[in-house]
Amino acid sequence: MKKLNLFLFVNLSIFSFAQEISKERVVNVVSTLASDEMKGRKFGTPENDKSAEYIASEFKKNNLGYCVGDSYLIPFEYKGQKGFNVCGIKKGKSEKSLAYSAHFDHIGTNNKSGDNIYNGADDDASGVATVIGLADYFKEKKTDYSMVFMAFNAEEIGLIGSKALTDNEKLKPVFNNISALFNFEMLATESQFGKNAVFMTGDEFSDFDELINANAVNGLKVHSDPYQGQQLFYRSDNVNFVKKKIIAHSISTVDMNKATHYHAVNDDINIVDAENLTNIINNFAKTIEKLNTKNFAPKYNDKVNFDF
Ligand SMILES: [Zn+2]
Repeated sequence: MKKLNLFLFVNLSIFSFAQEISKERVVNVVSTLASDEMKGRKFGTPENDKSAEYIASEFKKNNLGYCVGDSYLIPFEYKGQKGFNVCGIKKGKSEKSLAYSAHFDHIGTNNKSGDNIYNGADDDASGVATVIGLADYFKEKKTDYSMVFMAFNAEEIGLIGSKALTDNEKLKPVFNNISALFNFEMLATESQFGKNAVFMTGDEFSDFDELINANAVNGLKVHSDPYQGQQLFYRSDNVNFVKKKIIAHSISTVDMNKATHYHAVNDDINIVDAENLTNIINNFAKTIEKLNTKNFAPKYNDKVNFDF
């Protein structure tokens, strides 16, 4: 009897948790991108290319389609240097899509002795782990919305990668179908609102946060941006989509009043609250799973400014 009970228990646990993203998986993605070998993933370096290739390989494992052409890697050039954005797509029942993004580049190294690598575990390997985690979660699921998964390059030097992508005419058919973009930016530490909580930039411009909160599972909460004076809505990649009038907000946990790791060499795997990050990824996944083209169609209000 004991054996039978154990057998049943094991089967039930596999059934209930198989779709969850594990903490080990999240730590693995963050520590791969934030490893010293990646040398801070600066745009224009071989390690930046290597990061893009790693993300593309994870997209492939999740059976994503190409956004354009025959590769997840979409090349662009900036000041004579070449780099790649990464884009994958999963078809749903509708052509309309939800998009998830994060930037994978960071700021490289400095010339000082000792630890001179800006690993960028929080900024923004944590966001990339969220995007990959969502791709993992939805791998075997048929959703109403199609889904677009993106990793942007060259954010740190002026939101250049996302600009190149949104200006790429070949991607117009993909971007024209985006109903809302979730841009994940620095989710590795506990928010000022506590665990299982994030804030959203530009919350005053649309009903995106209200609609997410109305569907949120397991106590996940999207708060208003508490750092209004810092203009964060205009300082991340979401803004290049806003310019195209696509609903696009950045989602973060970073405590801008307290964070000492922002663009510092100690932004490495040691500052990552993997438990909280994993929980947030799973809760976003389950929340998004409830969304469809009927119950989730966020809109901008008249406060938003598209010309800036
Ligand atoms: Zn960032």
